[in-house]
Amino acid sequence: MIEITAVGGYSEVGRNMTAVKIGNDVVVLDIGLHMENYVHVSNDEDIVKISAEDLLASDSVPRIETISDWADKVRLIIPSHAHLDHVGGIPYLAGRYNADILATPFTSAVLKNILTEEKLRIRNHIRTLNVNAVYQQSDEVKVEFINITHSTPQSIIVALHTKQGTILYANDFKFDLYPTIGKKPDFEKLRQLGQKGVLALIMDSTYAGLRQKMPSESVARQMLKDVLLGTDNRNKAIIVTTFASHIARLKSIVEFGSKLNRKIVFLGRSLAKYASAAEKTGIASFSKDVEIVKYSSKIKRRLKKIMKEGKEKYVLVVTGHQGEPASTLYKMANNQFDFKFTAGDHIIFSCRVIPTSTNIANRENIEKLLNRQGARLFRDIHTSGHSAREDHREMIELVKPKHIIPAHGPLEMTSKMAELAYEMGYKRENVHLMKNGQRISLE
Ligand SMILES: [Zn+2]
Repeated sequence: MIEITAVGGYSEVGRNMTAVKIGNDVVVLDIGLHMENYVHVSNDEDIVKISAEDLLASDSVPRIETISDWADKVRLIIPSHAHLDHVGGIPYLAGRYNADILATPFTSAVLKNILTEEKLRIRNHIRTLNVNAVYQQSDEVKVEFINITHSTPQSIIVALHTKQGTILYANDFKFDLYPTIGKKPDFEKLRQLGQKGVLALIMDSTYAGLRQKMPSESVARQMLKDVLLGTDNRNKAIIVTTFASHIARLKSIVEFGSKLNRKIVFLGRSLAKYASAAEKTGIASFSKDVEIVKYSSKIKRRLKKIMKEGKEKYVLVVTGHQGEPASTLYKMANNQFDFKFTAGDHIIFSCRVIPTSTNIANRENIEKLLNRQGARLFRDIHTSGHSAREDHREMIELVKPKHIIPAHGPLEMTSKMAELAYEMGYKRENVHLMKNGQRISLE
C-alpha cells in the first residue's frame, strides 16, 4: 500500500513538503519555507541561523508533527529544485530524520552554499544525482530525476517507481519549449511513463485557474532586451532586480549589459550564493564578466565608489524585487547607502509582485521612494516559471495518471486543478484535494 501525507504547501503557497510511504520506506519530497512568515521571524529573506522551534511556531516551515509516526521510516529527502519554498526548510529540519538528501548538482550546491555561509550544520549526507539518472533506494523504491523547465536550473520531476506504479512529483514546473539555458522538458520520458502506468501525479496548481499556456523564458529575455538595448539610457544608471535563483534571467541581463559596454556588478548575499552554485556546476560562469559584492558593508563602500566613477558606467543587479526592507534596492532607495538617484535613472523589475499583503505594501513603498527621486520604472519584465491551465492539461494527457493530487496552493488554487481534471473525465474519487496534515492511501 502507498500512503501520501500532505505536510505543507496544500493550504498555502509556500512551505512545500509531501511524504510518501511505500511499504516500510518513507520518501520526503521538499522541505520548504513559507517566505512571508519566515521573513517575519528572521527579518531576512536569506537563510540565517534561527531555531527550528521558532520556525515551527511561526508556521514558517511545514508542520512535521503530522508525520511523527513515520519519522523513523524516513529514508530519503528529495528537494525538487533550489527555490527556498522547496529547499529552505532542510537546514533546520532534515536533521530530525536519519535520511540522506538526494538532489541535482545545482540544488546540492545551493544547499551546501547556504549551510557553509550561515554556519548551519546537518547530520544528513547530501548525495548528488544527475538529471535523467536513476537511484535505487531499496527493493521497494527507485528514484528517477526527469528533466523539466522552471525558473531555476536543474529543476526536476521526481519519479518514484514502485511495485504499485509510478508516483510523479511535478512541483514546480513549466513546459518551456524555448528555454534560454538547459534542455526542453523530457516529453518523451513522460509519454513513456504514461504508457506504462502512472499511479499518481502530484502537481503544481498555482496557476490552474489561468487559461493560457505560460509564455517561454525566451519571451522574458526579449522583453529584457527591449528595455536594456532599446531604450535611451545614456548617462543614466541602470539597476535591475530579479530573483537570485533565476540563473537564466541573470545570464540574459549579463549578456545585454555587456553589449552596453558597462561594468556589471551583483550586489547582495543571495545573488552571490546562487551565482556561485551556478559557477560550481558549470551552468553559468559569471565571475569572468561580473563583480559580485556580498555583504552590506562592502556594498555600501562599492556604491560610494560607483557614484564617484559615474553610475552610468555600470549595470547594477540588486536584491529587492519585492521591495524587501533588508534588500540592497530598498537601502539604495531609502538613502541608507551613499547612492543618489537622478531623474531618468532606469530601474528594471524583472519579476512580478508575488501577491501577498506584505509584498504589495513593500513594493508600493519602494516604488514611491524611487518615483519621488525621478527614476523611470520598468515593471513586470518577466514570465512566470509556473505552468498554467493549458500546460496542466497537456501534462495530464501525457502521463495519464490514475490519481491526481493538486499541490502548491490553498483550496482556491487546487480546486481549479480538480475542475480541470473533472473536465477531462476524471472521477471524483481519483482527484484528491488535500489540506495540510491530511493523509490518503492509494490502491
Ligand atoms: Zn519553484
